[in-house]
Amino acid sequence: MRTERAEMQTRMDIVAVMVGVAVEGPYSYRVPEHMVVERGSIVAVPLGPRLTLGVVWGAPKDNIAHNRLRDVAYVYDVPPLSEELLKLVEWVARYTITAPGQVLRGVLRSPEALDAPKPVIAYRRTGIEPEKLTPARLRVLDALMDDMAWPKPALVGASGVSTSVIDGLERAGALEKLEIPAPPVVMPPDADGAPSKLNPEQQAALDDILALDPHRFGVALLDGVTGGGKTEVFFEAVADTLREGRQALILLPEIALTNTFIDRFTRRFGTRPAEWHSDMTPVQRSKVWRGVLDGTVRAVVGARSALFLPFRELGLLVLDEEHDGAYKQSEGFTYHARDMAVVRAQFSQARVVLSSATPSVESRNNANQGRYAHVRLESRFAEAAMPDITAIDMRIDGPEKGSWIAPLLAREVFAALDRGEQALLFLNRRGYAPLTLCNACGHQYKCPDCSSWMVEHRFRGVLMCHHCGHEVRTPKHCSECGQVDSLVPVGPGIERVAEEAAVRFPNARRVLLSTDMGSHAQLRERFAEVERGEYDLIIGTQLVSKGHHFEKLSVVGVLDADLGLAHGDPRAAEKTFQILTQVAGRAGRASRHGKAFLQTYHPDHPVMKAMVSGDREAFYAQEILAREAGGMPPFGRLAALIISANDHDNATNFARLLLSAAPMAEGVRLFGPADAPVAMIRGRHRVRLLAQSSKDFDLSGYVRFWLSSAEKPKGDLKIQVDIDPMSF
Ligand code: ADP
Ligand code: ZN
Repeated sequence: MRTERAEMQTRMDIVAVMVGVAVEGPYSYRVPEHMVVERGSIVAVPLGPRLTLGVVWGAPKDNIAHNRLRDVAYVYDVPPLSEELLKLVEWVARYTITAPGQVLRGVLRSPEALDAPKPVIAYRRTGIEPEKLTPARLRVLDALMDDMAWPKPALVGASGVSTSVIDGLERAGALEKLEIPAPPVVMPPDADGAPSKLNPEQQAALDDILALDPHRFGVALLDGVTGGGKTEVFFEAVADTLREGRQALILLPEIALTNTFIDRFTRRFGTRPAEWHSDMTPVQRSKVWRGVLDGTVRAVVGARSALFLPFRELGLLVLDEEHDGAYKQSEGFTYHARDMAVVRAQFSQARVVLSSATPSVESRNNANQGRYAHVRLESRFAEAAMPDITAIDMRIDGPEKGSWIAPLLAREVFAALDRGEQALLFLNRRGYAPLTLCNACGHQYKCPDCSSWMVEHRFRGVLMCHHCGHEVRTPKHCSECGQVDSLVPVGPGIERVAEEAAVRFPNARRVLLSTDMGSHAQLRERFAEVERGEYDLIIGTQLVSKGHHFEKLSVVGVLDADLGLAHGDPRAAEKTFQILTQVAGRAGRASRHGKAFLQTYHPDHPVMKAMVSGDREAFYAQEILAREAGGMPPFGRLAALIISANDHDNATNFARLLLSAAPMAEGVRLFGPADAPVAMIRGRHRVRLLAQSSKDFDLSGYVRFWLSSAEKPKGDLKIQVDIDPMSF
């Protein structure tokens, strides 16, 4: 009799709680009698000696004796996390082989974010005169106009009294205290704010996107030339979603630097969007998080981690520049935001717009196969035309020794400057020179902790490792042979280009834009100045290639178009094609006709040919064929295991051990161990195992099974799993 009752109670008031800590499964807790929870409720639970945030996952799988359980300490008065978000956490954890609690940790914010937004305390006069009227009291009453309520801090500031004076006046009946609800983080965007008048091609593109059922999962690839007006098109898709009463998320690859995008959103929707990125303070983030959860925030513009915000009514996800490598998260658990966006949209029955002038081969293939709607914008907006692209054969027409700018390009830059237009010199390499060596003894400066050269940054007077950030003052004499003034820079970095530009174009107003040239705020300011036409010559790295709209820019020079092709990475051609198209696409975006020049030693390479002829269809067709022939993504699957240790042999031996424990499976090919593309970072040696399978094989499941049955890494050994690695 007693046991029966106990068992019934067990079912009713014990819950499984997933805590936001890197643990495998949910833990069971007892729900105190007065407390009501449901799946998705956010709770505080004791874990060991401390409290931690968790989410009610459901009923526990196994029955644990009631009296051994601890109580749920607190349930927050916020809407529960949506079913689709819980499913997303489980899916991501499984797919990326990460503890669900660790994924959940990326979803939850600190407890402060869960407290209700604080109301503002304000006071107004009641008209009743207090019996005792001190000078301080008088100052407070004087500061208040009859019917107006003022926040307490403002009142303290204006009258210069202590808060106790105000409290005293309230007790005396002279002041009325009001609680004004906290304002929303952002005002709701107005779907009908200031829509652009779309041209017929844009309208057709929008119609194609809106043809996707708004309440079902569907993906559109918005594949349009740079300057085609894609933003205007997907803004109208956002408006449509807002009118449907659902929330919208726009992801940008590098949001911290994209002021202009926020401005465009503000103009279109009459209010700033809620933002989500690493430049925000924890308080700002908490407010946005909370607003997304309680539905006061209707639209978010954010970086990839915004995918894990607690939307409850997500109706649209937009990925701008969907091909961008910044969408791959490589620290903590590794995921690709494009893939996760599609997964989340499936759970939410939402639409996805992937926008790019240079779509990833993956997305192009999905569009070719009919899985995604293929929406095109083939001409530039208004009178802007596509830039003319010329390859400069460096073997024949290259610059003199010691110079990096070919004569033809220099002439074109001069001509642009003469016409009062802007020119851009692009080199995707930070610093002054990628390699420094001693011309007396041949010593090359390498990072002591990484397998990479130390890159000279002349403006800052240091040699720096681009993998771990290790820095030393640039030595005056060789640290190996002691020779003075024998160190020579080899090859150009962007600072060296800037140095040459200063000599060649001394009268141009020049600006150097590269991530290490200032804080985000400073760089944003530089970009705004460029947009206002305050510079004539822009010298920059990858940073300048993305999304910017420089109206006066007419000539673009790429100093080393071959740079990305050198790696043995099968995605090298795709990546190079994308960055060259994006950089060239900065030219002639307004009425000025644009020209782009590619300095190359391989003018016959398919990438250069596609760039010059403008035949991107041929490029994609060839690239897709090559991937298919090699069984590479998206036609095959890849997973990488990076095994790292302080000692190289230790890492290699463990990798061999792992390899020998790999389960047999038909169609899975294993490679390695080999040194990882970056063989050493921060003193840790990294070796890699690679698994390859066909598209229809569950490679992630295979790796999960493999790792669960294999020996666990001990000591300083570590395994990092990368499903769908981007470079291989
Ligand atoms: P993309 O994102 O395709 O490179 P943008 O959306 O940045 O192109 O558009 C290029 C330029 O054309 C921007 O300055 C944009 O404001 C302008 N533009 C595009 N469509 C319209 C429109 N329908 N009405 C007015 N201006 C537009
Ligand atoms: Zn290093």
